[in-house]
Amino acid sequence: MTASSDSALPAVKRSPMSYQTLLVLYLAVVLLPWVLSYFEGLAIRGWYEELVSFLSIIGLSMMLFQFALNARVDALAGRAGVDNTMRVHTKFGEYLGYLILLHPFLIVLPRFIVAPSFALDDVWDLFIQPETSTGMYAWSLMLVWVLMSVFKEKTGLSYEAWRYAHSAGFIAIIILATHHAVTIGRHGRYNAWFDVMWVLLCIIAVALVLYIYFIRPLAIAKKPFKVVDCHKGSANDWYLTIAKDGDFPFDFDAGQFTWLSTSKSVFARSEHPFSIASSPSALPQISYVIRELGDYTSQLGKLKPGQRIWLDGPHGVFTQNARNAKGIVLLAGGAGIGPIMSILRELGDRCDSRPVRLIYGNRMIEQMMFLEEFDALQSKLDLQLHLVLEQPPKNFEGHKGFIDTQVISQAIDHSEHGCWDFYICGPPIMVKAVVKNLQKLSISNDRILYEQLGF
Ligand SMILES: Cc1cc2nc3c(=O)[nH]c(=O)nc-3n(C[C@H](O)[C@H](O)[C@H](O)COP(=O)(O)OP(=O)(O)OC[C@H]3O[C@@H](n4cnc5c(N)ncnc54)[C@H](O)[C@@H]3O)c2cc1C
Repeated sequence: MTASSDSALPAVKRSPMSYQTLLVLYLAVVLLPWVLSYFEGLAIRGWYEELVSFLSIIGLSMMLFQFALNARVDALAGRAGVDNTMRVHTKFGEYLGYLILLHPFLIVLPRFIVAPSFALDDVWDLFIQPETSTGMYAWSLMLVWVLMSVFKEKTGLSYEAWRYAHSAGFIAIIILATHHAVTIGRHGRYNAWFDVMWVLLCIIAVALVLYIYFIRPLAIAKKPFKVVDCHKGSANDWYLTIAKDGDFPFDFDAGQFTWLSTSKSVFARSEHPFSIASSPSALPQISYVIRELGDYTSQLGKLKPGQRIWLDGPHGVFTQNARNAKGIVLLAGGAGIGPIMSILRELGDRCDSRPVRLIYGNRMIEQMMFLEEFDALQSKLDLQLHLVLEQPPKNFEGHKGFIDTQVISQAIDHSEHGCWDFYICGPPIMVKAVVKNLQKLSISNDRILYEQLGF
């Protein structure tokens, strides 16, 4: 997509890979080993056997590719955005769970049809024979780890402990599953090059985890930041400002996020993703709006000016890069005002002449931030503000309730909105609801950009 030559528009940067393109690329990559399996010269069997082989091969291929989606490697995550690669990782991780859990049942199903009276004994033999033991260990671990992912909020584990367990468990699973595939995959009759391919993919997957935990921190250590200030910006939100602590290049696009770590060691992986709220013009300082939610975010008041802070980023494609909108609607829920504010401030820096509509929702008036700054921005921009409160005070003049179709309809020009971009940021539940509302108003998906404050 190219942007128009209007000087008010942001400079055209490299267009991020769309979510749809990422999905196509993902499917092409995970299907490739299955396509290659047909170059083995093995006889084609009945449809059921071929289906089971297909599901087994793409199951292993998806499992190995999960690591690449999670690795923050610039070649993929830099182009598609970590937010999008994580979305695919989470979504297809779920399908992968079903696929692997079904795998042994699909293999034994024909025995129940052909000789039902012997089937249970056959199944038991299959489960206990030494040849299938690595497969059975992988399968059992997978069952536990999938349940841990599905019920991660209920496990009582801290996010950091859950993340370590998630990585370690899946490394064990892919090593066991790869051993299973190269020993008894299609009864051990695959050619050596096919087995070598699985082993290499498994080595790459493990190397990517080692990269995240041990190599990437070395690069982060070369770009230290320090705390400038952290104060309450609303009843529930911190306004954290940090600055570069050294002379190194750092740049970001309005709307992007970073992982922050206040741990003493750069190798301690207790890092949290937060979106940047300041404009790129405020560099070398960067600010964040951070809502108090749990252990980490409620302790931010203890940060001391000058304290070391590690930053991994910037990441994400929630930006204006390579867009050609004639108008912009910004929809923020709670702490979602952070990246929305970054975009708004950047528009203000450039005195952008396009219509800008800001719809900002919160539960209570005490949670609203930047109200005075919005007034100041109205003198530079064609900015209309629509405040939405779930529990408004008596004299509130904005919209009561949620960001619904009514308030969006009031904010937009219906004859023009086909050429406007809609940026949504907030908790996942709010983002989903607002996307649905925009779709009800016939806003096309390629005009909707969103960032969910949670993977
Ligand atoms: C791309 C992105 C951008 C974000 N930007 C902002 C922002 O600008 N402002 C803001 O207030 N919040 C933002 N968040 C959410 C923020 O990361 C979490 O609220 C914060 O990490 C919670 O930490 P906690 O220990 O205080 O809360 P907890 O009670 O431990 O967790 C609350 C929720 O946050 C998730 N979470 C906790 N720790 C992490 C972690 N290390 N990494 C990822 N998720 C975690 C948990 O799964 C849980 O759903 C963003 C999230 C993402 C994915």
